[in-house]
Amino acid sequence: MTNQDFPGERRFKPDDNCPLFSLRLENHLVDVINGAVPNRGNFCAYCFSPMGLLDALCVECQFDSTSTERLDQVPEEIVLAMKNQRSIESRWVNSFAYLGVLIAVVGGIAFVLATPIFNDRLIYATVAYGLILLIGSRVLAGFLGGYFGDQIGYSKGRAQTIKAWDAYRSKNRISSQ
Ligand SMILES: [Zn+2]
Repeated sequence: MTNQDFPGERRFKPDDNCPLFSLRLENHLVDVINGAVPNRGNFCAYCFSPMGLLDALCVECQFDSTSTERLDQVPEEIVLAMKNQRSIESRWVNSFAYLGVLIAVVGGIAFVLATPIFNDRLIYATVAYGLILLIGSRVLAGFLGGYFGDQIGYSKGRAQTIKAWDAYRSKNRISSQ
């Protein structure tokens, strides 16, 4: 599994008071999930970003981890929250991409059948349909999946992440920054 398996990479800080996930945390968790590295290290107690051993402040969220206990691993709930967010995102991207292919398949047939010059010209009709399929399915899948699927998937996945973060926070009595 690579990063390409998870479309919708973006790195802006959403204005929702949820510090998940910094790029460094995400990279770490992807490696953990892939089994490339163990879930061990030195992590910010607030946003779970990997920290240098000697860092006093988290570079991602400026949380002062000297005053509180740092974590030597990212909590299981947070690992699951990231898995969950990414699978929701890719599900939406893929569904919209399939919808794009379907539109090209059905729309292409409808177009060829409804266009008078293709009447009794089976070769032309076949070529036209082939081109519509070839180009249309790519363009529509890319546009619908990469744009709408990505947008919807991101906000749905993000909502679940915020829920997981709130649950973790209230369980562990972490106040917001
Ligand atoms: Zn932090």
